[in-house]
Amino acid sequence: MPAAAVCAGTKTQRQSETANMSESYRAFHQRSIESPEAFWSEQAAMIDWQTAPTRIMDADTPPFVRWFVGGKTNLCHNAIDRHLADRADQPALIHVSTETGTERTFTFRQLHEEVQRTAACLLELGVTKGDRVLIYMPMIPEAAFAMLACARIGAIHCVVFGGFASGALASRIDDATPKVIVSSDAGSRGGKVTAYKPLLDEAIRLSTHKPDAVLLADRGLAPMALVPGRDHLAADMAARVKSTEVACTWLDATDVSYTIYTSGTTGRPKGVQRDVGGYAVALAASMRHIFDGRAGDTYFSTSDIGWVVGHSYIIYGPLLAGMATLMYEGLPTQGMDGQPDGAIWWRLVEKYKVTVMFSAPTAVRVLKKQDPALLKKHDLSSLRALFLAGEPLDEPTARWISDGLGVPIIDNYWQTESGWPIITLANGVEHMATKFGSPGVPMYGYKVKVVHEATGEELTAPGEKGVVVIEGPTPPGFMQTVWNDDARFVNTYWKSIPGRMAYSTFDWGIRDADGYFYILGRTDDVINVAGHRLGTREIEECISGHAQVAEVAVVGVADALKGQVAMAFAVPKDAGALTDAGRARSLEGEVMKRVNDELGAVARPSRVMFVAALPKTRSGKLLRRAIQAVCERRDPGDLSTMDDPASLESIRRQLDL
Ligand code: AMP
Repeated sequence: MPAAAVCAGTKTQRQSETANMSESYRAFHQRSIESPEAFWSEQAAMIDWQTAPTRIMDADTPPFVRWFVGGKTNLCHNAIDRHLADRADQPALIHVSTETGTERTFTFRQLHEEVQRTAACLLELGVTKGDRVLIYMPMIPEAAFAMLACARIGAIHCVVFGGFASGALASRIDDATPKVIVSSDAGSRGGKVTAYKPLLDEAIRLSTHKPDAVLLADRGLAPMALVPGRDHLAADMAARVKSTEVACTWLDATDVSYTIYTSGTTGRPKGVQRDVGGYAVALAASMRHIFDGRAGDTYFSTSDIGWVVGHSYIIYGPLLAGMATLMYEGLPTQGMDGQPDGAIWWRLVEKYKVTVMFSAPTAVRVLKKQDPALLKKHDLSSLRALFLAGEPLDEPTARWISDGLGVPIIDNYWQTESGWPIITLANGVEHMATKFGSPGVPMYGYKVKVVHEATGEELTAPGEKGVVVIEGPTPPGFMQTVWNDDARFVNTYWKSIPGRMAYSTFDWGIRDADGYFYILGRTDDVINVAGHRLGTREIEECISGHAQVAEVAVVGVADALKGQVAMAFAVPKDAGALTDAGRARSLEGEVMKRVNDELGAVARPSRVMFVAALPKTRSGKLLRRAIQAVCERRDPGDLSTMDDPASLESIRRQLDL
């Protein structure tokens, strides 16, 4: 497809919209797979290009794919500047914090000003194109300004979830080697203030790499000790910088926009790396085909900017579509006055006329404990759909919220790596029936298959369980590679299935006769706690660092509220902890504190139990799956390769089973 076919004209957009609506989703998907260049060239018309691409897809070196080669664009331009002509005075960013009782709206014009101000500060601190800026912030507008400012000047942002503590932060600092870190005095959750600055200072002390500068937003929640020459208060710096007009730097579509860390099966976090042009096109297309997000409307994602959903659907997706995005700090059950209010989200939907909402099953399960009348308390007539993602959506939860809200509940299956949904329903193309328990069908651009884990053979019979894989070339928006580690990208993701070069999602799944997929959980040691993805290895490494712990296994155990919780089984060096309940309790407390301090509360196991030995195979491999089965009162399966069957018994005893 010649590059000339890519243009920013609205005529092209409307034509493709009409074409899309008139075809079935099946045909739409098929076209995306059979003619990816023609398909994505059309989608590329949804964003502005400074220079049109000369080649839509370069998949010459699989599994790497370069999208929109030769094209120049900018995510910040497309998210903000592009809308100034038509909607400068319309809301762009609505920030609501039930933690501080504050509510602020920034129009596109104001957001433009704020982002330029932050960009000017970053430039003043010496940040240039390709430099990394690590963002460790709570859900405050300044976090959004920082991300967009990076995108504006071509710096690579690396947002680290604010719930992580110093150890986790330090390993990410060492991997990203940021020139500047942007942070804040504190975050707050459920009224409990967590001072970020001491955590950050400790992380910088622990890390080998040291940033040149730290830029700090002061919310007035916790005192901050500034390190002279390194730390700068954002407000002072913004007042000092001379020019606050910062033009967008036009970037190659294939340049890096950001990295985001995710858990894998080793303790070392993986920096998922994303491009500029492919990501912009993928998100713009998803806003139309999947989310039905319309310019001028309001999008409310309850996620956090520390997670991929926050990147894609708090910041970039809605803004690219010309929508206002509602950024929320607080619990789902807390009012503006800090008092309990189980209807706070619905109050916001009414107030800001939210049309599209995005949350996680775990949040709905929290709401489910409240009086269902709260769902009827506010006028929700603006709401068109609620999207849920991040973990399996169980049927009772889906039915409860569906009955309560009376809008379609759409399950979304995706990963940090994909950047946008892999399996869901594209209601902007064709309304397809939802099936409880299934996120839906593969999205356009994705060749999703179920394969046998040992032979790699494709399983085509309905209901056959296998590993869910994606065949290349992966679509725009998908990860480019692992930051600084192409080999890890290829070896981890693309070589795990024997006899087949395919991207493994590391999820088990089945497909039914209608082509709907059902996701059945991870094939690896990654667990999902309240929608947060955690590597059990990272938690194990932290716990085994405790002087009194000889060995530890961490497993994810099914939990009615959080989906899964982490449980740790440790072999203590002091055998007294096995027989003396008081010693065991105190050691458990110490281990919990260690995880809390190093990795953050998000990674803290629900229990740490002490056993004399851990179940292992004769070759010495930890049998985490057998432990998990016992914890979930399931049959642990074939234990013929197990070295010491008594070890599983002692776990049963600990659990009082
Ligand atoms: P993350 O990278 O944190 O988004 O986690 C991705 C993982 O979460 C996937 O590999 C799945 O195991 C799980 N996941 C995400 N969305 C869904 C969903 N809709 N249904 C079932 N599992 C999901």
